[in-house]
Amino acid sequence: MSDPDPAIDLAGHDIQFFEKRPKVYPRDATLKGKFRRLKWVVMAALLAIYYFTPFLRWDRGPHVPDQAVLIDIPHSRGYFFMFEIWPQEVYVLTGLLVLAAIALFAVTSVLGRVWCGYACPQTVWTDLFVKVEYWIQGDRNARMKRDAAPLTFEKVWKKLATHVVWLVIGLMTGGAWVFYFHDAPTLLHDLLHFQAPTGAVGWMAGLTLSTYFMAGYARENICTYACPYARFQSAMFDKDTLVISYDRTRGEPRGKHKQGDGWEGRGHCIDCKQCVVVCPVGIDIRNGLQLPCIACGLCVDACNDVMDKVGLPRGLVRYDTDRNQRARDDARACGKTYQENIRIIRPRTIYYAVILLVVGGLVLYALLSRQPFEMHVLHDRNPLYVKLSDGSIRNNYAIKLLNKTHHDKDFSVQLVDAPQAQMKFVGVDGNIIHVPADAVSQFRVSVDFPASPLLQARRTLVLMATDLETGKTTNVESLFVTEDKR
Ligand code: SF4
Ligand code: SF4
Repeated sequence: MSDPDPAIDLAGHDIQFFEKRPKVYPRDATLKGKFRRLKWVVMAALLAIYYFTPFLRWDRGPHVPDQAVLIDIPHSRGYFFMFEIWPQEVYVLTGLLVLAAIALFAVTSVLGRVWCGYACPQTVWTDLFVKVEYWIQGDRNARMKRDAAPLTFEKVWKKLATHVVWLVIGLMTGGAWVFYFHDAPTLLHDLLHFQAPTGAVGWMAGLTLSTYFMAGYARENICTYACPYARFQSAMFDKDTLVISYDRTRGEPRGKHKQGDGWEGRGHCIDCKQCVVVCPVGIDIRNGLQLPCIACGLCVDACNDVMDKVGLPRGLVRYDTDRNQRARDDARACGKTYQENIRIIRPRTIYYAVILLVVGGLVLYALLSRQPFEMHVLHDRNPLYVKLSDGSIRNNYAIKLLNKTHHDKDFSVQLVDAPQAQMKFVGVDGNIIHVPADAVSQFRVSVDFPASPLLQARRTLVLMATDLETGKTTNVESLFVTEDKR
């Protein structure tokens, strides 16, 4: 007997293993709501920072880019206001990223998913795209009705206009990003005169399309299915983390409420679903905290508005902690009053603060103790050593000297605690090395030790570079070998 078709149940009905996700049509949230207003303020501030930062100038002297924030890929340099990061200092960037991650964890442990709800680029651009949709196509009901209706001239032009504005926003987004990698005013001029480099135009096209797709189509699906941070941030939650919560004991049993009816024997939720229709991820917070919830607070605004209209206290849906909710429910069960208590200082936040301080201190130390020059010494491996005709042993090295300042410098390089050894630069008279401004110079040196029974098979060799202008020195260790043990 053949197996039954797995897509048909015993009664012969089709089984949908993968339900099509319904499109979310968020209703425009009331501007009276404080969280909606806060979201607009945060969005305006973040977009202003994003769009205008590449045009900020920072005087670093002649022949150096004057863009305050610039990633100069052709010259392998990063500029961030007064800091100039060389590829050799990428550990500073790593430290800053670690610092940002820990700061995010600390904020999440106190305020929950505020990053997701207010500051994440996916949220900011989706908010903007939904607003454009609202301006052109109307609010939730009008959009739903139009999408379900057959094609008309009005439907075509409204859809077309929406997509054109989305593409323009996408283009501005991609354009702003590319400005961080070029001199922004020059690139803007070149773009306006159709002379921009092909690479920049290619990146802009790619970023335009990805913004258009992510904020126009994927929207909340990125947060729900694709974002790894959404998956693991609950690890930073505890009983005192603020989450969006529905006050179940106060709200249930829910039901429609007519003007003039009393509230005895029923909950305060009038089942108007205003908290559901404003939700940008399309969930019903009354079913409890769910993974797609980005803690944007729009359902809080919507429900507070409803509570104001029916004359009940606000806060049926609110930011609250698990500890508060339980304590309030217990107090209500005993007929007692309960005082809300938000605990910010607790073991979890203390250790995040300690880690932040330690990592922040290390990054600050690394930034402030940056040397204006660096030396790197590489021992030749082929051959490891050479025996000369007089019996002495020679090792060869490649020396790189980085001059991070914006003027030429001379350095002397010598051996430390090796009076019997002789060091010679190839192609340089003496031991004074000239390194142009903002450049790396590479030299070859040989070091000879006279034959001696006291000469070890391997010994540490210390080279010291001295900045002849400032007298600052740096020491680098390498090896001197007299036999090949490979
Ligand atoms: S907005 Fe408030 S009253 Fe209306 S359904 Fe949601 S929780 Fe209930
Ligand atoms: S449930 Fe509320 S807080 Fe969560 S995403 Fe929806 S509207 Fe925002």
